[in-house]
Amino acid sequence: MLTQIEEDHYIKLNEILELCRTKLLRYDENLIKKAFFLCYRAHSQDRRASGEPFFYHPVEVTKILLTEIPLDDISVVAALLHDVVEDTDYTIEDLRDEFGEEVAGIVAGLTKISGIFDNREIKEAETFRKMLLSMIHDIRVILIKFCDRLHNMRTLDALPAHRQMRIAIETRDIYAPFAHRFGLGRIKVELENLSLKYIDREAFDYLIEQLKMTRKEREDYLEKVMMPIRSVLRAHQFQYDITGRPKHIYSIYKKMRTRQKSFDEIFDLYGIRIIIDSESPSDCFAAYGHITQIFPPVPERFKDYVSVPKNNGYQSLHTTIIGPLGKMIEVQIRTKQMHEFAETGVAAHWRYKEKVSKRDVVIDQLLKWARELIEESDTAASFMEGFKLNLYQDEIYIFTPRGDMKVMPRNATPIDFAFEIHTEVGTHCIGAKVNGKIVSLNTRLKSGDQVEIITSKNQRPKPDWDKYAVTHKAKAKIRQAINEERRKQIEEGKSIWNKLASKTKTIISESDIVKFSRKHGINTPADFFKALANQQVNGDDIIKAFLNKKHEKNGKTEVDINKDYNQFLADARDAVLPDIKETSKKSAIVVEGLENINYSYGKCCNPVPGDDIIGFVTASGSIRIHRRNCKNITNEKIMKSEKLVNVSWQKGSSDQFMAGVHIKGEDRIGITNTITQVILKSDINIRGISLNAKDGLFDGHLVVFVKNVMVLNKLVEKLKRVSGVFSVERFTND
Ligand code: MN
Repeated sequence: MLTQIEEDHYIKLNEILELCRTKLLRYDENLIKKAFFLCYRAHSQDRRASGEPFFYHPVEVTKILLTEIPLDDISVVAALLHDVVEDTDYTIEDLRDEFGEEVAGIVAGLTKISGIFDNREIKEAETFRKMLLSMIHDIRVILIKFCDRLHNMRTLDALPAHRQMRIAIETRDIYAPFAHRFGLGRIKVELENLSLKYIDREAFDYLIEQLKMTRKEREDYLEKVMMPIRSVLRAHQFQYDITGRPKHIYSIYKKMRTRQKSFDEIFDLYGIRIIIDSESPSDCFAAYGHITQIFPPVPERFKDYVSVPKNNGYQSLHTTIIGPLGKMIEVQIRTKQMHEFAETGVAAHWRYKEKVSKRDVVIDQLLKWARELIEESDTAASFMEGFKLNLYQDEIYIFTPRGDMKVMPRNATPIDFAFEIHTEVGTHCIGAKVNGKIVSLNTRLKSGDQVEIITSKNQRPKPDWDKYAVTHKAKAKIRQAINEERRKQIEEGKSIWNKLASKTKTIISESDIVKFSRKHGINTPADFFKALANQQVNGDDIIKAFLNKKHEKNGKTEVDINKDYNQFLADARDAVLPDIKETSKKSAIVVEGLENINYSYGKCCNPVPGDDIIGFVTASGSIRIHRRNCKNITNEKIMKSEKLVNVSWQKGSSDQFMAGVHIKGEDRIGITNTITQVILKSDINIRGISLNAKDGLFDGHLVVFVKNVMVLNKLVEKLKRVSGVFSVERFTND
C-alpha cells in the first residue's frame, strides 16, 4: 500500500514520463526517475509560500518545459534539480557525480549568486550577467529559467503584495522581452499577461471582462471574414488551418495606453492566423494574393517577415485587411514550420540543430548577442540598461551604400548605425547621408533607409552622442571612449602639475589641491587635473594660494614638520625587516663604503629594485632604505641632517619585494575580478587587495610582491588599460 504522499508523487512522476513520451524523440527514463527521486528527497522538508510541498515547484517547471520548449532528457533532469543547490544541502559537485557535467553546469547557471552585495540592484545585475555567461556555454540554462519564472508567476498569489509587484515588474521588463528575444512567443504572452495582473489589477480585470462580453460578437464577425477566405483557399488546393485569435490582454492594454484609445477603438482586437501546410514559403504570398482579392489590404501595414525574418528568427507575413463594416483585421500567414518556430523559437531551432547537427543562424545570433552584451557592460546600472535596451521589440531595416542590410532597433540614429558597422567608424563619424541627403547625427532612421556614414580622422565621440544613441553597443562604446579621453586628460594634467609643483619644493597634497581650487568649481583631484589639461584653471594660481595660506600660519607649519619627522621615526622603527632567510643568500643592497650592515626597508614607501633609493641611519645604527622621493625623506629636517647615506641595489638578487598600488576608477561590474585576472596573468603574487566603492566610483589598494620596478611598472601599465580605471599609482603610506 502506498501512503497518500507516495501515491501523490508517483502520479507526478508519471505525468512527467508521459510528457517525455509524447514530446521527446528519445530519453533515458532511468535518469529522469533518478532525478525525480533526488528532487523529492532533497526538498522533502521544504514548503512553498502557498503551503504546498516544495517539490511541486520543480515538477511543474519540468512540465512547463516539456510542454512549451521540449528539448531533451538532460534539460528535464536539470529542470527537476534546478533549485536543489540553491535551497538544499546538495552541492554542484554532488550533481556532477550523480548526473554528469552537463546537468551540473546547467544547474550551476541557474543557481543565484550568493555572497554579500551592498544593494539588490547589483546582485540582480550580477545574477543576470552570470545567467548570460552560462547561457553562452549552454543555452538550456536560460530556457529552464523562463519556465521557472513562468511557474513562479502562475503561483504569485501566495506572496505578499510588495514582492508580487517587484517580481511582476521584473517579469514585464526583463523576462518577457527576453523570452521574445528567444522567439518564445507563447511564454512571452503568458508572462506579460500575468505581470499585468499584478501591476494593474483593475485594468486586467476590466479587459478580461470586456473580452468575455464581446466574445460572441467578435467570433460572429470573424466567422464572416473567415468563411470566404476558407473557400478561396480551398478552391486553390491549399492545405491550411485558420483561426480567429483575440489579441492578448497585455498588448491591448499597451495599445490603449500608447494610443490613448478606449477598448472599442482598438481595431487589432480582430485578428486571424492562417497556417499553411506547405514546405514552400512562396505559398504564403500566394495565399496573401487570394485573400486580398476578397478583402482590400491596407498597404502600409504589409510586413514581410518571410523574406526578412526578425532578429529572433520569427517568420510570417503580416497584413491588415478591411473587412465587412470597414473594420480592420490583422492577418498573419505562415507555414507550419514557421509557426512552430514562432511559438517555441529557439527551442525549435535547438531541436532542428540536434537533428541535422549543423550550425543554426538564429542560435549563433543569440549567442553573439549575449557575448556582446557581456563584453560591453560596465557598471551594474549600465549593464541592466544594456540588457533592457537589447530586448527591443521593434526592428527596422537599414541598408549600407553597398546594399547590405542591418537590423536596427526602432529610433536608431546614424550614430547607432555607425557603431553597428564598426567601432572605428562610430568613433570617427562626423555626419551621415540618408538616401543621399546629409542629415544630422541625431536623425531617427526609418526602415528601408540607405545610410552612408561620413568619418573624419580627427573626430572623437562627444558626450551628447550618448543621448542620440539607442543601442547598447553604441552607448557603451561612446562612454568607453569618453572615459578614455578623460583618463588621458587627467594624466596630462598630472604631468603639468608635477612640473609646476616641483619648482615650489613643497608638497601639496591632493586634498589641498581640491581645497584651493574649489572656487573654480572643482571637487575632486581628477577634476582638477582635467581642468588643468584643458587650461580651465591656472596651476600657478593654486600654488600661490596654497603658499600664501601656508605663509600666514608659518609657526604651525614648523610644528607640522616636527610632527611629520617624529611620525617618520616612529614608522621607521617598526619598518618591515627583510626576510633574513632570503637576504642572507645575497644582500639586495649595497651601502656606500660599508659592508655587512643591517638594513631594512621603509614600509612608508616600499622600495623595489630599480627605484632611486637612499639610506637613513637609524638610532640603532642600522640602515633604513627609502625611495629618494619618499615624503619622509624629502622632509627638510632630514635632508639637512647627516643621517643619509648613499645606497644602491645589488644586481641579481632574487628577493621578492612588497609594493603597493593605488587604483581609482569607475565601479563597474566584475571590476575586482578583471583586476585580479590582470595580476594573475602577469604571474605576480598578490598579498592583498581591497576595493571600496562609493557613488559609482571605487578606490582600491593592492599589495603585490615583485622582483623589481620594471615588473611593477608593467603591471601598472596593464592595470591602466582596464576599462573603467582612471588612475593607477604606487602608493606611499602618507
Ligand atoms: Mn525555481
